[in-house]
Amino acid sequence: MKLNFSIKKFVKKFSADSPIPRAIDKNKEALFDEKQKKSEIRYRRLFESAKDGILILDFETGNITDANPFIVKIIDLPLEEILGKRLWEIGLFSNMEESELAFSELKKNGYIRFEDMPIQRRNGKITEVEFISNVYLENNTKVIQCNIRDITDRKNAEKALKESEQSLKKQNIDYLKLNKEYLELNEELTESLKRIKNINSELIIAKARAEESDKLKSTFLANISHEIRTPMNAIMGFSGFLSEPGLSHDKLEDYVQIINASSQQLLSVISDILDIASIEAGQITIDSELVDINKLMNELFVTYKNLVELKKIDLRYSSDRPNDLILVKTDGNRIRQVLCNLLNNAIKFTKEGNIEFGYKIIENFIEFYVKDTGIGILPENHEIIFQRFRKAGSEGQVYGGNGLGLSISKALVQKLGGIITVDSELGTGSTFNFVIPYRKEKENNVSSVLTDRTNRVINWNKKTILIVEDEIYNHAYIEELLSTTKVKMVHAWDGREAVEQVTKQADISLVLMDIKMPVMDGWEATRLIKQIRPKLPVIAQTAYALGESKSQALEAGFDNYISKPIIKDTFLELIGDYLN
Ligand code: ADP
Repeated sequence: MKLNFSIKKFVKKFSADSPIPRAIDKNKEALFDEKQKKSEIRYRRLFESAKDGILILDFETGNITDANPFIVKIIDLPLEEILGKRLWEIGLFSNMEESELAFSELKKNGYIRFEDMPIQRRNGKITEVEFISNVYLENNTKVIQCNIRDITDRKNAEKALKESEQSLKKQNIDYLKLNKEYLELNEELTESLKRIKNINSELIIAKARAEESDKLKSTFLANISHEIRTPMNAIMGFSGFLSEPGLSHDKLEDYVQIINASSQQLLSVISDILDIASIEAGQITIDSELVDINKLMNELFVTYKNLVELKKIDLRYSSDRPNDLILVKTDGNRIRQVLCNLLNNAIKFTKEGNIEFGYKIIENFIEFYVKDTGIGILPENHEIIFQRFRKAGSEGQVYGGNGLGLSISKALVQKLGGIITVDSELGTGSTFNFVIPYRKEKENNVSSVLTDRTNRVINWNKKTILIVEDEIYNHAYIEELLSTTKVKMVHAWDGREAVEQVTKQADISLVLMDIKMPVMDGWEATRLIKQIRPKLPVIAQTAYALGESKSQALEAGFDNYISKPIIKDTFLELIGDYLN
């Protein structure tokens, strides 16, 4: 209807300007009216069916003059409640100020647009709309048309898209995090797999070692059994013959010699077992004293010369400086033990030929060697023969032995601060060397080792020895050893009795103290005796036990130490030092 005016105006303007004949004018006017009607109907149809809400406002007042059906749907108000109202009154702006502000801007600029504007519906729900408003001229009158598009779906879609983008982003972050964790886990797994593999191969090696050590121990037990039973057989057998009636003196001497030799053999097996146990327990002890090397070597030469007499072996001894006094601060017994092991092996593995042993001084070291022309050792066995229970090859079994000598020797040499090596070829013989530190000793240290103890006349008839010993046979043996010395002997069966005897009997000149005894042991008894008579010499006598050494005994207050089995000459020499 309003559009009608503007078209009329346009037609009027056109008619005034053109000189058209009246009849034609009338026809044209009718034609225009027709067209205008049609266009108005078309506009109305568009207005009614539009999928946007349309509001027409009065330019001056801002009152709503027309509204299409779709706006009714959007803002959910009946048409009669919309017409004549202002925008804010139908919920298009949240308050009057906002609405008026927008209205005055629209009037000023002729156009206003809000991309998304929330409108409050009657039911309280918020609908998002796009608000576009323009000013038009209608029959020279300004009118305002507001197009309101419901963008809820678009907004929802946008929101959903945003959410899905965010969720994708989050998923991506989660995935990256997961991937990082996975990579770390993978690294850890690879690492632990590596560790497991290492443990596995260590276990395989340990298992092989355990099996090997098991096998070695079984072989060792079989060997040990043989090594113990063989001398035991001789000792028991020949001891039985000793009591046979009518036994000739020659036979008696032979039997005694066999019993002595077998006892020595048995003792050396037992010492080896104890030594290896000490080494394994980390308790091997080393004493430090001045050792006259030439004397020690000469004694060994005499002993071994006798031993090889019956074999086709030429034993030679070579001294670097035979006429000098070579004194070394070391453990003489341990050096002797290593050399005996090497010499025993040389004799065992050499059927005929020669064995040479000796020493050389090379600057700050003294090198001992034992060289033989025996069966020799394959190079691949040079290392393993120093391991416990190990023998070089099948020929080792034939020769007997417990496979401990070299491993003990190696441990002892190491304890003495040196090393032991072998140079050998199968069939041509072997040379074992060991070096220990050597430091020239001052002359005033020498006197103590030079005392010649041999050929002493023993007469101790003015002396009294207290023998502290709980074993009746050992007591009897010591009495027998001392019987030729005319010494007076008193006896105590345990440590407490010994302390009582020392308190009672002032003439006791020396105490021979066993260590392991019931009631009170030798350590405690000696401690108490030294409180009563500090100057009374007390000599420890003990069966060789783990962890006991001469230095320990001296530290504990003993004046000296002798180990069982007690050898007569050594024993008398030692006691003589205190009684003479
Ligand atoms: P055992 O002699 O009691 O078997 P050892 O530890 O002293 O134990 O020696 C280990 C092995 O080394 C011997 O079984 C032997 O195979 C080899 N061996 C040692 N000394 C010699 C040597 N002088 N000649 C040849 N083989 C030797």
